[in-house]
Amino acid sequence: MREPTQTNSTEPTATGGDTNRRTFLTGAAIAGAAAAAGPALAQNRGQSSGSDAPMTAQAASFPEPPYPAQQQPWPGLAQRMNPRPDHGEEHYRGTGRLRGKRALITGGDSGIGRAAAIAFLKEGADVAIAYLPVEEPDARDVARIAEREGRRFAAFPGDLRDKAYTTSLPDRTIRELGGLDILVNNAAYQQWVPGLEQLSDEQFDQTMKTNLYAMFWLTKAALPHLRPGSSIINTSSEVAATAPEGLIDYSMTKAGILTFTKSMAKQLASRGIRVNAVAPGPIWTPLQVSGGQPTDQLPQFGSSTPIGRAGQPVELAPLYVALADPALSYSTGQVFGATGGDPQPGI
Ligand code: NAD
Ligand code: MG
Repeated sequence: MREPTQTNSTEPTATGGDTNRRTFLTGAAIAGAAAAAGPALAQNRGQSSGSDAPMTAQAASFPEPPYPAQQQPWPGLAQRMNPRPDHGEEHYRGTGRLRGKRALITGGDSGIGRAAAIAFLKEGADVAIAYLPVEEPDARDVARIAEREGRRFAAFPGDLRDKAYTTSLPDRTIRELGGLDILVNNAAYQQWVPGLEQLSDEQFDQTMKTNLYAMFWLTKAALPHLRPGSSIINTSSEVAATAPEGLIDYSMTKAGILTFTKSMAKQLASRGIRVNAVAPGPIWTPLQVSGGQPTDQLPQFGSSTPIGRAGQPVELAPLYVALADPALSYSTGQVFGATGGDPQPGI
């Protein structure tokens, strides 16, 4: 892959014409190895070694509280976190479950969306990610993994509060990847405020636009392209039920995402399109170190769960893969928890 040379462009610039191996600048589609060779390459890697390594052995090595105190300006970068989140860069092993699929993931540069992106790539899918331009350094890390896996990859920097940008994403994904089978509505805005008096109209608006409007716009724009067997996965949260006092606006949206998931599942069942939600608990991601939690509580993040630590993004990747896999054909309108043992929101 050629490194992007600009950081703010939202339009890909083709620098080569070969359809099997094209390289683009920023906002680019990266067709890594030849399309024909790609799946075999990814598959071989997936089966090469260690697929019998139990998840529990890996989980035993995940960082435990207390975590180092830290803070970043929103939206934060995974690169700058200490310890660095585990998105499955090294440990996730694919088995070709998503070979031939094309996925669009919002917030795919970091955290849970990045873990889903990496797992999808390692399962043989081609992937497009959407993220904010300022997150380009994290997005480049995902592009490098796509190249290593020999998958097609497209990167679309932009602001999901911009309807024109958001509604353009399905078409752009199809242009770069040749189709769209999996939509992951994952991007979100979360800022902790101590009371309603501190919750500004601006924050309320940003939370609603990012978490609800963008999901609505993007799902609507994607629908004409989705075929039987397609899957929509929305990232909700346990806070849809627990409603922490400092996350009123955010929790409202996470409950709304569950309701949207259930309604859409009913609408789309007859079209063979499944719609499900994942409800994470406390996960070690940039969102939490850039205003999502009170800074003084971060060292103990996740310690109140039965598992007793924050989850790592890679621990959610198998859920996203399972929901994307058409083999999970009788599950729609469901919410799947990954909460470290906390109760998950009912549905
Ligand atoms: P993250 O910061 O890694 O991901 C959030 C992403 O949202 C960012 O990377 C950014 O690309 C995107 N985003 C935010 N505002 C945007 C905008 N205006 N335009 C474009 N993109 C924008 O954090 P994460 O924790 O992985 O978050 C992913 C999802 O997981 C979110 O839906 C979040 O609500 C959910 N979640 C996280 C936790 C947790 O503890 N980390 C818990 C429950 C649910
Ligand atoms: Mg990010």
